[in-house]
Amino acid sequence: MASPTVLTANAFPTFPLPPKATTSPPTSSGPIQKAELDASKLTYTFTTNSSPIPDEVSAGCSDLTVVTDHIITATWDISTGWAAPELKPYGPLQLSPAASCLHYATECFEGLKVYRGYDGKLRMFRPEHNCARMRLSATRVSLPSFDPAELQKLVTTLIAVDCPRWLPKDRAGSFLYIRPTMIGTHAQLGVQAPKAAMLYIMLAFIPRLDSPAGGMRLLTSPQDTVRSWVGGFGYAKVGANYGPSLVAGQEAQREGFHQTLWLYGEGECTEAGGSNFFIVWRREDGKTEVLTAPLDDRIILDGVTRRSVIEVLRGGVAGDVEVAEGKYTIGELLQADKQGRILEAFVTGTAYFICPVSQIRHNAKDIHIPMGHEGKHGDITGRAKGWIYDIMYGRQEHPWGVAIPESQGL
Ligand SMILES: *Cc1c(COP(=O)(O)O)cnc(C)c1O
Repeated sequence: MASPTVLTANAFPTFPLPPKATTSPPTSSGPIQKAELDASKLTYTFTTNSSPIPDEVSAGCSDLTVVTDHIITATWDISTGWAAPELKPYGPLQLSPAASCLHYATECFEGLKVYRGYDGKLRMFRPEHNCARMRLSATRVSLPSFDPAELQKLVTTLIAVDCPRWLPKDRAGSFLYIRPTMIGTHAQLGVQAPKAAMLYIMLAFIPRLDSPAGGMRLLTSPQDTVRSWVGGFGYAKVGANYGPSLVAGQEAQREGFHQTLWLYGEGECTEAGGSNFFIVWRREDGKTEVLTAPLDDRIILDGVTRRSVIEVLRGGVAGDVEVAEGKYTIGELLQADKQGRILEAFVTGTAYFICPVSQIRHNAKDIHIPMGHEGKHGDITGRAKGWIYDIMYGRQEHPWGVAIPESQGL
């Protein structure tokens, strides 16, 4: 398996960074230089009022998201570029009611996790992909570009500040969710690209979602609804993709399902809720194939977990299986089910990790999918999951697991 290029921990400034003097503004004689996003300019204001650390289960299930002590923000303005980022106590934002994001969905976000390893270290999993995707999503909705490596440094610093306490060493095997967000803040009701924006990063508790009792149950999307379309923006992690999907999600939940399996066109299977979807089946030629929707028509998200599963399975972690990215329809799945050729199914994503699927309902017809010997997951699902889990939690040293230096005495 080819090792991806990663930023090593050494590339990051060691914590804590000395607050640097901001560079003086350009003189009136020269052209105004638009500043780039620059993590080395980060300023620090620490909280004097840290919250007690909640237990993981109640914090993950809380109706209001439980967050850590600090947030990092960075503002951008079309004439001056990126201001020095600030680390400060977590709290409400001030926003004009006319702000672009509140009217025209100039918003995008990322989701990744920080893991407390069994070796005591904090790690992220392939964060460079999330940072690159954040730039792709931002520019899709006319938000400003930035160097993804600078975003990664800011995320790393927030973790280094908050996680020694919020994800302590005695919580090996636990994680916090990282939510980088960008919003258009320009107070202008005219429909136009925002001339001001804000990037912010927060750390939060979310529940473990990777092994619901009995497996995940999916209901196919309503016939009159699509999540995304060719020429649209389904490949970008922009808020505009999610609000409109909630009606179908609620309908699925009312009927006792966990998520919507989004179909497109003539019943092509695309994604499940906010996760990528994989089917494992025996092809008509007898070969075992792991199949997921392709990226080329840009209607699905290029998930980091998705690409990792594809890479580890192609690397042979589950033996001799074909791994394909290609179109397939719910009709083909129903047909394969009749012939007993469906072996496993699972969804992948940061929130759901690798979660086995046990049932798909389409037009009142059910596909029941085996959950393996112990009823936890099928063999191929389990092998990919175990392999990636071990990297996330430091049981297996690998370039995909990016360790984060921590301060000793905060
Ligand atoms: C975030 C997301 C995923 C999963 O991506 P990961 O990088 O694996 O977390 C898949 N589909 C959609 C629609 C998403 O928003």
